[in-house]
Formats: sequence, C-alpha cells, structure tokens
Amino acid sequence: MNRDLIQQLHNIVGDAGLLCDDAVTSRSAGIWHQENLKATVLVRPKTTSEVSQILALCNAHKQPVVPQGGLTGLVHGADTNDKDLVLSLERLSGVESIDPIGRTLTVLAGTALEDIQKAADDAGLFFPLDLGARGSCQIGGNVATNAGGNRVIRYGMARALILGSETVLADGTVISSMNTMLKNNAGYDLKHLFIGSEGTLGIMTRFVLRLFPKPQSANTAMVAFEKFDDVPRLLNHIDEALGGQLSSYEVMWKDFYALVATAPHCKTPPLSTEHPFYALIEAQGTDQQADLAHFEKVLSEALENGVIIDAVIAQSQRERDNLWALRDSVDECNRFRPIYYFDVSLSIRHMESYIENVRREISHNFPDGQCFVFGHLGDGNLHLAVSPGHNDNNSHTKIEHIIYSPLASIGGSVSAEHGVGLEKKPYLHLSRSAEEIGLMKTLKQALDPNNILNPGKVFDLA
Ligand SMILES: Cc1cc2nc3c(=O)[nH]c(=O)nc-3n(C[C@H](O)[C@H](O)[C@H](O)COP(=O)(O)OP(=O)(O)OC[C@H]3O[C@@H](n4cnc5c(N)ncnc54)[C@H](O)[C@@H]3O)c2cc1C
Repeated sequence: MNRDLIQQLHNIVGDAGLLCDDAVTSRSAGIWHQENLKATVLVRPKTTSEVSQILALCNAHKQPVVPQGGLTGLVHGADTNDKDLVLSLERLSGVESIDPIGRTLTVLAGTALEDIQKAADDAGLFFPLDLGARGSCQIGGNVATNAGGNRVIRYGMARALILGSETVLADGTVISSMNTMLKNNAGYDLKHLFIGSEGTLGIMTRFVLRLFPKPQSANTAMVAFEKFDDVPRLLNHIDEALGGQLSSYEVMWKDFYALVATAPHCKTPPLSTEHPFYALIEAQGTDQQADLAHFEKVLSEALENGVIIDAVIAQSQRERDNLWALRDSVDECNRFRPIYYFDVSLSIRHMESYIENVRREISHNFPDGQCFVFGHLGDGNLHLAVSPGHNDNNSHTKIEHIIYSPLASIGGSVSAEHGVGLEKKPYLHLSRSAEEIGLMKTLKQALDPNNILNPGKVFDLA
C-alpha cells in the first residue's frame, strides 16, 4: 500500500488507530486459523465518522477493505491478502443506551455479544442471541453473518432481533436507519440489505437491538430416541404442549453424543450411549416450580407413549450447565485430524436419509473416516464434523461434494447460519438460482462499483 495513502489513514485515525507491518502480521487470522493475518496495514476507527472518512479515501484509491469483527467466523469471510486494508471494529465498541420502556438497546458494532447479553440482563431484560463464541464474537459480525445459535426456534436469527442499523457505504455515505419501532413500512427496509451480506455491501457501525422480558425459569432435559421419526414427533408435541416456552431443541446423532458424553471429556454420561438419537431440550418461562412440573409431565407422557426411551431432567443450574457442556463440546471432534466442519439446512423430513447417504459415501470413500452429526434440528439446521482419517490434498473437496451436492435436489442450503465467505463460494449455485445470484451482483455493483468492500467473498463479480 502506498505511503501517501497510509499517511492519510493516519491523519484520520491517529497513532492508536493505525497498525502496520509486524504489528499486523503478528495478529492471528482468526480462532479457526493456524496462521496470522496476511495484510500489512490495519485501521481501528473509533467513530462512524472515521469509518466514513476511511471508506471515502479507500474508494477514491480503489483500495480493498476487509472488515473484521471478533474473527470467530467459520467460512473464511474475513480472510485477507497482502494488498488488503483490514478495518477492525474492535475500538468502535460499547453499549450506548437501553430503553426499558421500548425494550431496545443501542450498541456500537464492535461490542462483544456477551457484553450485550450482560447489559440487557443488568437492566432486567433479555437479549436472546446466543452462540458458543459469545465472549469473542462482535454484534457487527453476528449481524453481518445473520448468526443463528441456540435459541432461533423461539426468537429467530440475528435478522429478527435488529430494529435499526447504521451502515457506511463504500463511498463513505452514512446510512442511518436507527429505527426503534417494531413496525415501520415507510418504503424499503434498508437494514435487511446489509444483514447477512458479510461485509460486501457496507460496514455496519451501530444497531438498535430488540430486547425481551427476562425469562424467570429454565428447564433443561436430555432425551433419547429409538428412531428418527420420533425426533420431530417430540419437537411438535413439546412445542405445542409448552405453549411457546420451547427455546432450544438440539439434536445429536449417536456418534457425536458418544464422543462428548464419555471419557476423556465426560466421566459419567447422563444417558447411556447406546441410543441412536438424542435431543437437548430447553424451555424458558415465568415460574420455575410450575414450569418444571409441566415440563416433567410433558416428558413423562412422551416416555409413556414410547416417543422417547430415556430422559434426564436437570435439577439445578449446575446440571443444566453440564448438559449444555455436552452440546457445546464440538471441539472434541478435533481429536480426529484433519477435521472439516459443515453447516447445512434442509427440511426435517429429508434429514435421516440425507445423513444416511452422506455416511455411506464417507465410509465408501474414506474407510478410516469419521462423521459426527449434531445441530439445531428445530431450525432445520445440521452441523457435520467429518474427518477423512488421513491427510491428502483432495479429501476436503471430495467431502464438500459429498455433503453439498445432494442438497440441491431436496431444496436444502449449503449455509444455514455461518454465511458463504470464501469457503462456500464454489457451492453457492447449489442453493441459489442464477437469477438470485445475478441480482446479488447487481446490488453489489450498485452499492460498491469499485468492488472495494471484502472483494471476492460470497461470489466473484467477473
Ligand atoms: C465456538 C463457536 C460456536 C459458534 N456457534 C455459532 C452458532 O451457533 N451460530 C452461528 O451462526 N455461528 C456460530 N459460530 C460462528 C461465528 O461465531 C459467527 O459467524 C459470528 O457471528 C461471527 O462474528 P465475528 O464478530 O467473529 O465476525 P468475523 O468472523 O470477524 O466476521 C464475519 C464476517 O462478517 C464481516 N463483518 C464483521 N464485522 C462487520 C461489520 N461491522 N460490518 C460489516 N461486515 C462485518 C466480516 O468481513 C466477515 O465476512 C460459532 C463460532 C465458534 C467459534
């Protein structure tokens, strides 16, 4: 990058806001990467005005800019090369205000998700977005990827939790849509253009988030099933019987459960590891004693009817945390190397046969391979962790084909919640039509004609 441009960036952000050379290349490229950042210049603006000036300058110089949040993304959406300018949102951080009457929270994009959850909690309210990376990921990254997580079944994805946003366009124009109302049909709802756009259409700097009443009770159970048909059967039954209190329905195929519920990770499994399917279920309500009694009654009925064959209900916060620790122990799959992670969505009715087919293909092509399946079944979202059992150059691509190709004919998606980034770019056409991708490109060209914002991510323009 030329010295003159670096000097002008320095004029905007000052000493504290500009890092060069070793100070950049010594930074990790992200928690999933073994390597460091490839770029050599990084800016850390502290205000929206600074973001605006940086983008106006970069646009004039046709300088590529890669926005970075907490770098917990799973699809190489914030990867850089040595020509990129990194724009880190880390100093544009903090909860600005909470409105307890309108139940909204206004926050800067670089704020960690966990800090937002805590601020809402301290105000006696609840921000429901929750994922394993809560301590490191930023709300800007969550919105840019339209993150899902553990409570989508009840509260929706990030998109459903954003009332207003402020975004800086490639030419530096600030689009302030800091709406605080649930209803606002005055023309296009522009925030939705930027939510899930992975930093390719604008850099988001502030949000108005929707808060909810704080749940007063939580009841959590691990249950086991004899056959897959019973998994959605219980989901529908419990969803209806709990009258809207169901907040999580996380499924685990036997291999994943056996991996996380046995030594060395876990001394005593809460349920035997012999069953083919398990679900972690959580309901949040208003009265701990009454809700627990009802929760137990609903699960007892399911046990009596044979929909589930075993169940354990957490009796304390510690037991609840222990059950969640099993579901959250995805990194136990890293015992098998190399290991590749996938995030797909498909209709529940296709899940069993899809997974059987994937397993068949994996064991046919990789006799020493491993395939662990788990996910947010209530949202139609499965995660797979697949190891070929040995390291060769082609195995990753071969496994990607095995997992993604069947999705096209059953109307599934190659990305349920992690986005596209670089990793899923070659497979976007399996889930989106040529016309849809064409319109995405038209929007990109209209908003970022010099293609400076996160170029090459999601799709190539050429
Ligand atoms: C343990 C663990 C569990 C996870 N569980 C889930 C889960 O359940 N559900 C889920 O959806 N994801 C999950 N993830 C993935 C990841 O945490 C999410 O994708 C998260 O939303 C990324 O946020 P980030 O701040 O780390 O963004 P980054 O990784 O830094 O960036 C992600 C993308 O957003 C862009 N971006 C970042 N900030 C901005 C901004 N302000 N404006 C415009 N573009 C921006 C980047 O350019 C990049 O394209 C998990 C990750 C880990 C490590």
